[in-house]
Amino acid sequence: MIPSNSLKQLKQRFNGRLIGPHDAGYDKARLVWNGMIDRKPALIAQCREVQDVVSCIVFARENDLRVAVRGGGHSVAGHGTCDHGLVIDLSALRGVHVDPQTGVGQCGGGATWADVDGATQPFGLATPGGRSVGYGNRRLDAGWRARHLRNLYGLSCDNLLAAEVVTADGRVVQASEQQNHDLLWGLRAAGVTSVSSPGWTTACTRWVPPSCSSRCFTTGRAPARRCASTGTSTA
Ligand SMILES: Cc1cc2nc3c(=O)[nH]c(=O)nc-3n(C[C@H](O)[C@H](O)[C@H](O)COP(=O)(O)OP(=O)(O)OC[C@H]3O[C@@H](n4cnc5c(N)ncnc54)[C@H](O)[C@@H]3O)c2cc1C
Repeated sequence: MIPSNSLKQLKQRFNGRLIGPHDAGYDKARLVWNGMIDRKPALIAQCREVQDVVSCIVFARENDLRVAVRGGGHSVAGHGTCDHGLVIDLSALRGVHVDPQTGVGQCGGGATWADVDGATQPFGLATPGGRSVGYGNRRLDAGWRARHLRNLYGLSCDNLLAAEVVTADGRVVQASEQQNHDLLWGLRAAGVTSVSSPGWTTACTRWVPPSCSSRCFTTGRAPARRCASTGTSTA
């Protein structure tokens, strides 16, 4: 049970949407990709900016709440949600910006591969990702993306250049080759086990992969129109 005065304070500093069990849209907001997962969080915080994530971390610590970070919500085991705790939902942080000159893209922690592919393909660029377009990019950085790009350019995690991270004590830090290099290494190597570990509540809100191919490849439901306009075929 979250104390009402604590929730009131969070509402004052939170710019996204807070959804509790008695609010409209709760059942829709708690859905994840795997329909067999039926968890009921005490609060779902749909963040709109980095500071919202910080507010959530501070709030969870103050109220001793379990935390689940939700990126794309595609984890089969339902790691993006939890019972009776706080879901830090990044699905609204899904903007993707691609610089075709440098071949570097930036995207929000809630962006899915459909978002990333949709932003890179108009430039004829791509970066290694997953086989489906529904899952979030952050967790997949720790894994691998199948098909063509992996063989040419390595794993998704190999292409992660930098990340903006909210730490478990509510600090916003940059992880790159120049700053907090060990954290970048950890983000590249981390699996779901470390995410589930108590006290590990880092939320990655931005990542910077190099777009690494002059050709694009699409996976599953990626927009065929954009792919066609770059003159490449759908895989
Ligand atoms: C049909 C299918 C195909 C798949 N294919 C592949 C594949 O080809 N390659 C592959 O590597 N994996 C694959 N997966 C696994 C999938 O990539 C993982 O389940 C991944 O965790 C999904 O990412 P998500 O952001 O959608 O996860 P979510 O369900 O949102 O979260 C999963 C975990 O990641 C954490 N997390 C998510 N976003 C953040 C963030 N921004 N900051 C901190 N923690 C975060 C969550 O707290 C949680 O612990 C597949 C899964 C399915 C169901």
